[in-house]
Amino acid sequence: MTDSIDFDAARIYAIPMRARFRGITVREGMLIDGPAGWGEFCPFADYDDVVSAFWLATTIEQCTVGWPEPIRDRIPINCTIPAVGPERAHEITATSGCRTAKVKVADHPDSLAEDLARVEAVRDALGPDAAIRVDANGVWDVDTAITHIRQLDKAAGGLEYVEQPCRTIDELAAVRRQVDVRIAADESIRRAEDPLRVAVAGAADVAVIKCTPLGGVRRSLRVAEAAGLPCVVSSALETSVGLAAQLALAGALPELDFACGLGTLSLLEGDVVSGAASLRPVDGYMPVPRVPPTPDSALLDTYELTDSHQAARWRDRLARVRDELDRPRNGS
Ligand SMILES: [Mg+2]
Repeated sequence: MTDSIDFDAARIYAIPMRARFRGITVREGMLIDGPAGWGEFCPFADYDDVVSAFWLATTIEQCTVGWPEPIRDRIPINCTIPAVGPERAHEITATSGCRTAKVKVADHPDSLAEDLARVEAVRDALGPDAAIRVDANGVWDVDTAITHIRQLDKAAGGLEYVEQPCRTIDELAAVRRQVDVRIAADESIRRAEDPLRVAVAGAADVAVIKCTPLGGVRRSLRVAEAAGLPCVVSSALETSVGLAAQLALAGALPELDFACGLGTLSLLEGDVVSGAASLRPVDGYMPVPRVPPTPDSALLDTYELTDSHQAARWRDRLARVRDELDRPRNGS
């Protein structure tokens, strides 16, 4: 199936980030054209070839066979509020057009007062009917999680859910027994040895899934089914080409009860797709594309990775990960 893809013609992009995120200041990746359209291959630099093979499987699905039929044509999107002061949090929320806000908390060990002020400011900006969720990225212990979640829930006038309050599944389960707020599992699913078998049902109420690292829309639908929980689709900081697959997943999920974290192009200085085809939320929604968007050739030139050593590293990596993907393996 991959014979129909000209991997040698892949374009490599390097797009500056508007702010440091996940320790990076420039987002890099490859764009690959195939018979069904363009796909994106953008595993983070610290990911090994085994992990990256799932990212390439997503690319190849998109380039060769496309996605399953969607059952909805637009996806509600949350805005994301980084660890900023309350005035800035208010401003980002108010200008986003979104009716759901995801607020970063637990940015440092003494963050509680700042977190409470940030959440209050977001509620003030959204009004009483909108949803606020918080993400602690797994840094709290169980006791800290319980006390902080209770206070944040009060400050927010009700939280929609708390994403990954602690690191392990057992800790999530312990917190869940003690608080009235829903628990969402994010890293617990993505970093699981086998996302198709991870038992989060007793430990969480919501599953956060990302199509790009999970090996494609079809496999992500199986992960969602295996999780047995309502799902939220969240991005891996792709350009519009990769975001299209995430939106295809959100469009194909049997149920979608919550807004998705796919409005992330605003974290990048630019996109490889131009005009209305660039996948950004409008009035809190994004469309479900039927086919991948086509990169704009001028933008591919603008954001071309020009460092020849770096470009050679990407081409070597693609060759290694293709070998990894072709290697016979057990299981999924
Ligand atoms: Mg998260």
